[in-house]
Amino acid sequence: KLSNRLRLVLDKIPTGSKFADIGSDHALLPIAAIETGKAVFAIAGEVNPGPFDAACKAVAAAGQGKVISVRRGDGLEVLEPGEVDCITIAGMGGSLIASILNRGQVKGKLQGVSVLALQPNVGEDILRRWLIDNGWVLIAENILEEDGKIYEVLTAVPEVKGSELSNENLYKELLLDDGKVKCGRDMLVQMGPWLLKSPNAAFHSKWRGEISKLETILASLLRSELESAEEKRITIQARIQEITEVLQCLP
Ligand code: SAM
Repeated sequence: KLSNRLRLVLDKIPTGSKFADIGSDHALLPIAAIETGKAVFAIAGEVNPGPFDAACKAVAAAGQGKVISVRRGDGLEVLEPGEVDCITIAGMGGSLIASILNRGQVKGKLQGVSVLALQPNVGEDILRRWLIDNGWVLIAENILEEDGKIYEVLTAVPEVKGSELSNENLYKELLLDDGKVKCGRDMLVQMGPWLLKSPNAAFHSKWRGEISKLETILASLLRSELESAEEKRITIQARIQEITEVLQCLP
């Protein structure tokens, strides 16, 4: 059974896609995408031998060997340019996902790709920054809580500069009625522009959790007699205030 996390990634694949799932492990996503008719063809990419074998076995057991190609290799190396129109990468850190996309892009592997559906476990801000710097714009962000963990799914398409579909438009500072900055660009990148527009319980839970982690660090710094503790305390207090101020403005 597909987890709610992977189901959310599945939802983001355009119907009728040819897509590549990088770091596919047991190929759960490609198998579900073919079964549900979301995809007509899929590539399951895996760099490690154990998960690669597991993917080969799962695809064979599902009888989908003709429509799912299981390939062993690092990141987007397993793709020929133009072979797929959607790429999913789920269950890794944001910096690893960004590095996989970056190395692939240099080799033209993002050619013809019109949707990226990405599910970073941590480091979402690093991934948002990579998308901004590399001509991709978020069209959706989702956040959910499952088994006590919080996951974000970022969906991006190629940016059209000067249009509604541009990062300039998406990351406009959120202003209060009196023109004061409610949430600056940096916090938009950290927290997610779409998530901030319609924050749900999982979003609030993530950032309240972040504040409690910072408060725990602050409490231990208050007990510390090290000279450097004072400087760290100031930084952490400012960070708590920054997050709290944004949360207070939200519905
Ligand atoms: N995508 C699945 C999911 O979300 O449930 C599996 C996630 S699992 C935690 C991460 C997988 O990515 C592992 O199977 C690992 O072998 C694979 N992986 C890590 N780095 C990779 C890379 N550079 N290229 C391809 N696969 C990679």
